[in-house]
Amino acid sequence: MIDALPARGVPAEQVLAELRRLRESDLPTHGGRLFAYVYDSDVAGLDELALRAYDISAHVNGLDPTAFPSLLAMENALVAAAGSRLGGGPGTTAPAVVGSVTSGGTESLLLAVKAARDAATTRSPRIVVPSTAHAAFAKAAHYLRVELDVVPVGADLRADVAATADRIGPDTVLVVGSAPSYAHGVIDPISELAALAQERGVRFHVDGCFGGWVMPYLRDLGADIPPFGFEVPGVTSISVDLHKYAYAPKGVSVLLHRDAELRLPQYFAYAGWPGYTMINPVVSSTRSGGPIAAALATLRHLGGDGYRALATKTQEAVEILASAVTETPGVRLYAPPVIVVCLATDPDVDPFVLADELAALGWHTQPQMAYGQLPPTIHLTVTAAVRATATDFAADLAAAVTATRKRGPIPLPPLLGDLTPEMITPDLIGGLALQLGLEPGAPPGPMAAVNSLLNVAPPALREALLTGFLSLLQRPSW
Ligand SMILES: *Cc1c(COP(=O)(O)O)cnc(C)c1O
Repeated sequence: MIDALPARGVPAEQVLAELRRLRESDLPTHGGRLFAYVYDSDVAGLDELALRAYDISAHVNGLDPTAFPSLLAMENALVAAAGSRLGGGPGTTAPAVVGSVTSGGTESLLLAVKAARDAATTRSPRIVVPSTAHAAFAKAAHYLRVELDVVPVGADLRADVAATADRIGPDTVLVVGSAPSYAHGVIDPISELAALAQERGVRFHVDGCFGGWVMPYLRDLGADIPPFGFEVPGVTSISVDLHKYAYAPKGVSVLLHRDAELRLPQYFAYAGWPGYTMINPVVSSTRSGGPIAAALATLRHLGGDGYRALATKTQEAVEILASAVTETPGVRLYAPPVIVVCLATDPDVDPFVLADELAALGWHTQPQMAYGQLPPTIHLTVTAAVRATATDFAADLAAAVTATRKRGPIPLPPLLGDLTPEMITPDLIGGLALQLGLEPGAPPGPMAAVNSLLNVAPPALREALLTGFLSLLQRPSW
């Protein structure tokens, strides 16, 4: 238990030692063996540089760029860098691209939806997204009271253009495509979707949060990456997370618009109170300059040649992991690997047990539950650091599959019965957690039992169960 407010202050070195000890129970953020949550460049000194940059600007407040022009200059530089990587800026067909630095992909998407909603005149705004679009669009729709029209993807996991055309109506304010999707790493038919949206006079957002930064480099290396930036007519906005494949510390994404007029409804302005007139381009008002300075330092230090080298390592790591999957009986690639290696399993190989077996061997993957017609899969986000460990994967994957077959699927405890989301109470969740041996605050352990249970729960029940469980974890440590 941590006492955040001891009666007598604790010496600095002791506080840091305590923090280091706490971190020991986390998954390893470095070392190329965690395939979600973290993006590791494995470039010596890069983390230290970012932290020193963070330190310089930590107390600067992005609330007012006229008071802190350093932050404005850094943001404008990051937007220029992202814009020019994605088909905008001087000498392109989208010379007027503008943008904002946000705290992350979710905020970028929220703001793209807000701008589209507020630019439109309809009183019942709707957005059309492929079923593989990131959950942040559902969150944006929920927060902003916009209806979400979800269009099932085709057998190739790409957005279905004809079905999208059918769903665009008079109240549609935004159409969305991913480049690529998070779950499978698949690139939607951006040109076709954008043309469709343009024809109907609707905004079109490219969610490049995940791979928007690295894919142009992969294309330069010869990968078959179709155009997805502002060079594509009809693309009105693009999001790209710098805290993913630009390898900046967490808290930085960029939302780009084709021109300043498209961005205007993104702002919130309020002069109707006795304090300062508040003009916010993003959700936060007070915000630290730390993440922005850290991102700028990361980009400038790596430079084009650095990112090219990191893209090469990533591409090699993807190829090595993908052939390990192809060559291991019992598992197969579920989607063409670009930056994600997504694998599906044979019926006698339980994917949730396999994820546990891989974790026991030190490979921390991300199991994905069944969704509609799509089976459960295992997701690996591959970053540059994986290049150093990739060649060890094949043998461990084969061993994990063998162990998984031997264990067989997890027998499902009849815990859920006729449970409905309305029946979930804190007491019920507490009882379930006990039966499943889930201890609040314990380090991550075998999850197959929990995952198998959640996998058969309808989405609304899964949401309620996990919300209840998170609420159980998030209790003050008196
Ligand atoms: C990560 C991601 C997001 C959300 O970004 P956060 O930074 O986690 O808020 C949105 N879209 C895609 C495709 C992503 O991969």
